[in-house]
Amino acid sequence: MDFIVLHGGLSKREELQKHVEKYAELAFEEPTALDAVVKAVVFMEDDPLYNAGTGSNIRVDGSIQMDAAVMVPGDFGAVINIENVKNPVLVALDVMKKSPHMILAGDGAIEFARKLGHAPHNPITAAAVEKRKRTLERLRSGELPEYYNPSFFKEFLGDTVGAVAYINGEFAAAVSTGGTSLTLRGRVGDSPIPGSGIYCGDKGAVVATGIGEEIMRRTLAYRIYSQIGDRPLEEICREEIERFGDIPVGVIAVSENEAAAVSNMIMPHHIVRR
Ligand code: ASP
Repeated sequence: MDFIVLHGGLSKREELQKHVEKYAELAFEEPTALDAVVKAVVFMEDDPLYNAGTGSNIRVDGSIQMDAAVMVPGDFGAVINIENVKNPVLVALDVMKKSPHMILAGDGAIEFARKLGHAPHNPITAAAVEKRKRTLERLRSGELPEYYNPSFFKEFLGDTVGAVAYINGEFAAAVSTGGTSLTLRGRVGDSPIPGSGIYCGDKGAVVATGIGEEIMRRTLAYRIYSQIGDRPLEEICREEIERFGDIPVGVIAVSENEAAAVSNMIMPHHIVRR
């Protein structure tokens, strides 16, 4: 059986569910697992409702820095803290396919993107500007828990995007994010770190969402991947999510015969099988 699973981050925004469903169905028409997950993430990067590509979260200093990654068994590509591109996931794909490296960060990632023809694009939206303003005001007034307190993130997480697929016997995973709300410039989350926010090998593919620092602490994606085949995938994901207690986290995963989406907060997601 073939599968694709998409998630739209840990988000209470109901409208995201319908979008995730539409994008999952469309992306599943692609001929390969890699094409499908990249297409799915491009749809969500271009949709300003999501915290990826256009619509990404703005950092404390007012800039947007984005992380994205793609992975197939035995190969990986990622960009970290990339700026002013429309589709970070397509740059990550170019890093994997057209560079001798696996990860490019900051200025080097931007320069690489331009050389490969990714045109300058401003991902700032009015909604993201308003969100940053509101959050800063609430922080200053003491209405919010202290920054770096998990309950702060609980309120301002969300809308990051990811996809995993198993199509014609091949696995692939892709992820893209503007990071958690109001982080410091230069902060890197779990998404572009292989084994933490993303992992893909011969047994399956896993993508995580939630507080990146906590996900990295536990190398969550690889932990789940390494147990594939031992017991049902859903059970593996549930047990690993439970270890986080009330720290917000979610995962999507596929193996050769199972697909799972498990989280401890609302996570718009959609599984398509055929
Ligand atoms: N995991 C992402 C990060 O920490 C954020 C998210 O999933 O919402 O950058």
